Amino acid sequence: MPRYEYRCRACGANFELSRPMAESSAPATCPEGHGDTVKLLSTVAVATGGGAAPRGAAPAGGGGGCCGGGCCG
Ligand SMILES: [Zn+2]
Repeated sequence: MPRYEYRCRACGANFELSRPMAESSAPATCPEGHGDTVKLLSTVAVATGGGAAPRGAAPAGGGGGCCGGGCCG
């Protein structure tokens, strides 16, 4: 499952969440319970099983497209 990094604007904490891609843009709550958070455009480390292609078509050429950062949701 991909991990996404968020930043809490209330307390300034950075935190990560592992959540499905479909929920990458869903509101995240910081560990302190604040709801005023923003999603950071960090490198998404997807742990694939290895060997098998992930579901969907992976962009060729190492990404660089919009869909690599989850901004197409
Ligand atoms: Zn917070």
